[in-house]
Amino acid sequence: MKLHEYQSKTIFSKYGIPIPKGRVAATAQEAKQIAEELGGRVVIKSQVLVGGRGKAGGVKLAKDPAEAEQLATQILGMDIKGLPVRKVLVDEASAIDQEIYFAITDDRSAKKPVMIASAAGGIDIEEVAAKTPEKIVKIHIDPLLGLREYQARDVAVAIDLPRDYWKDFVKIAMGLWNVYQNTDASLAEINPLVITKEKKLIALDGKMMIDDNALFRHPELAEMRDTDEDAPSEVEARKYGLSFIKLDGNIGCMVNGAGLAMTSMDVIKLFGGEPANFLDVGGGAGSEKVAAAMRIILTDPNVKAVLFNIFGGITRCDEVARGILTAMDEVKPKVPMVVRLVGTNAEEGRRLLENANMITAETLADAAKKSVEAAKKG
Ligand code: GDP
Ligand code: MN
Repeated sequence: MKLHEYQSKTIFSKYGIPIPKGRVAATAQEAKQIAEELGGRVVIKSQVLVGGRGKAGGVKLAKDPAEAEQLATQILGMDIKGLPVRKVLVDEASAIDQEIYFAITDDRSAKKPVMIASAAGGIDIEEVAAKTPEKIVKIHIDPLLGLREYQARDVAVAIDLPRDYWKDFVKIAMGLWNVYQNTDASLAEINPLVITKEKKLIALDGKMMIDDNALFRHPELAEMRDTDEDAPSEVEARKYGLSFIKLDGNIGCMVNGAGLAMTSMDVIKLFGGEPANFLDVGGGAGSEKVAAAMRIILTDPNVKAVLFNIFGGITRCDEVARGILTAMDEVKPKVPMVVRLVGTNAEEGRRLLENANMITAETLADAAKKSVEAAKKG
């Protein structure tokens, strides 16, 4: 789950990381009022869950409350990379001397958290990483020992941070480590961390990603989720505990088990088709969950055929078949459906579906081929 900048920075601040004064606004009038409260120059920042807002024109400086209102109007009317801007953050503007990149994230191949920093932070960090990777410093963190202060100092030295800032930098690094650990984040990023003209270190931007699988123990973070920016089908799926990701193809997929689901998508592609979604109904899915999954798949107007690939282990094929029948009663699907059932109670499952007008298949290859053909006809 991604957090907005204003949410990330509020968390940072609780952990002792300095952030600019500011508040979020949903209207231009509110933005003007916040600018009045703050006094002086402010920065108006679109709150959307994508990077590169600055380059897209979604971050603008205003010299007074009137300009803040005008820019807020403009930014609140924008779409950034397809996402409508619903809120803006109004922050006290900072006078910047240097922009630093600083983040802690998971390094899967090293099986450790990693601290990443660069003296060349700011909006071109991707380019820096691609063209001058030597300007990016990485130090791994032992997950059992946690971040040690000497490691943070090593980073400060490696990015040529003047000695005067080391103490504050170490404090920020320890703060960010605590944020990362305590919130089960997979990313806690400050870009830019700036040195201001007043010689202060301050987190100007913030970005966090929280491990979805850990959200059950952070209800206060789970509540921060902005479902406005998720596909409605994904929001619906989450309610039923289904792992669902909407894709752009036209073959709906209903599979139990994440590995089997990915394999099914691969085999669909192998036969020239494109999956409309990833869906893992999960082990032991009952008919209610299956019905919900089917409703979600069939509300996608792109779907021209559906492939059911069920391996009955913990999930029983007859339960799945009942779910399919329930859902068919409800949604009256008009698209062809191909089903492959194997495993526990497969016989009974197939018998239940016999009169349901479904295309049956024996193997996954056969099922994939048939669904690709069916989608082409549809
Ligand atoms: P992003 O483009 O989505 O990463 O948004 P950022 O919050 O990082 O802002 C992009 C850029 O705008 C920063 O790298 C800064 O150069 C600039 N910027 C943001 N806030 C301020 C500010 O308060 N003062 C000044 N002078 N520039 C700012
Ligand atoms: Mn940024």
